[in-house]
Amino acid sequence: MIGHGVLKTLGDTCLELGFTDRLMVVTGDYTLQAAGKDALNALSSSKLDYDLVVVEDPDASWVDTLVERARETRPSAIIGVGGGSIIDVAKLAAYRAGVNFISVPTSASHDGIASPRASVKGLGVYGSVQAQTPSAIIADISVIKRAPRRLIISGCGDILAKITAVNDWLLAHRLKGEYYGEYAASLARMSAHLVMKNVKEIASLTDEGIHTLLEALVSCGVAMCIAGTSRPCSGSEHQFSHALDVIASRPALHGEQCGVGTIMMAYLHGLDWRRVRSILRQLGAPVDAEGLNTSPSDIVKALTMAHKVRDRYTILGETGLTEPAAYRLAKVTGVIE
Ligand code: ZN
Repeated sequence: MIGHGVLKTLGDTCLELGFTDRLMVVTGDYTLQAAGKDALNALSSSKLDYDLVVVEDPDASWVDTLVERARETRPSAIIGVGGGSIIDVAKLAAYRAGVNFISVPTSASHDGIASPRASVKGLGVYGSVQAQTPSAIIADISVIKRAPRRLIISGCGDILAKITAVNDWLLAHRLKGEYYGEYAASLARMSAHLVMKNVKEIASLTDEGIHTLLEALVSCGVAMCIAGTSRPCSGSEHQFSHALDVIASRPALHGEQCGVGTIMMAYLHGLDWRRVRSILRQLGAPVDAEGLNTSPSDIVKALTMAHKVRDRYTILGETGLTEPAAYRLAKVTGVIE
C-alpha cells in the first residue's frame, strides 16, 4: 500500500492477512518517533498485541537477538518499521525464525524495502542474502516525505542501476547459459524508465514523484521474487558499490554508489551513460568520486576488485579490470578527474 496515511491501516492489514497472534514490531530510536508510534497505535486500535524491540545499531548480532526473541514468543509476524537497515535486519530475522514479515519503510533509500533479500552489516558476506519476502509493504508518503532528501534521492540511484543489471544478466545468459527471465527483466527495466521519465517530479519531491519512486522500488522487489534471484536488480554496478563499501573508510549511501557505478558500467555496455549521469545530476545525486566523498584511488581500486565481490558473471568478466583500464573508465566517464 502506497499513499498518504496508509500507516493507519497496519492493524487491519494484519487482520486481513490472518496475523492475529502477538506481533513483533522492530524499529530504531529515530524511526520509533517518525513512524513506530503511529504503527503501534494502529495495532492497538485493531486490538492486536505486540512486543516492541528498539534496535540501536542494526547489524548481524541484532538478527540473532531477534531470531531468539521470535523463537520464544512465536509472533505471527515481524513488522519492520524503519529505513533500509532496520527493514533488512527484521526481514532476515523473520526468514531465519520462519515467521511472516511486513515492511513499513520510513525512507526510500533502496529496493530492500520490498525485496526478498537483505544486506546486513557484520554477516561476513558482501551483497545480499535470501530473506523473508514481505507479505505486505505499507509505504506512507506522509512519513517518507519527512525523511532526509538524500535518503529519498538515493533510492533513484538503486533504480537506475537496473539498466546495467539487466544487461549484465542478459550477458550472463548469452555467454554462460544462465537462466534469464524476460518478464522480471522488463519489470526492472521499466522501473528505471519510469524514474527517468518522472525525474522532475522526483527531484522536487512532490507526492506524485515519491509515489512513482516507491512503486518503482516495489516493482523491483517483485522482479526479484519472479526471477528467484537478485539478477534483474543487481549487476556490475552493485559489485562496484559493494567493493567500495569494503575499501572506503566512510562509504556513501548504497543507492548513491550504485548510481555512480551505473554511469561507468553503462559506458562499458555501450549504453547512453551520459543520460544516466544527467538524470543523476538533475536529481542532485552524486556523479563522481567527490560527490561520494571518496578518493580517485579508492574508485579505481573498487573497480579492479568489483568482479570478485560475488560469484556473478557481468561485463567485468572473470578476471575483472586491470588498473589502467579501471583508471581509464573512471576518467572517461568523469567519475575521477
Ligand atoms: Zn541495490
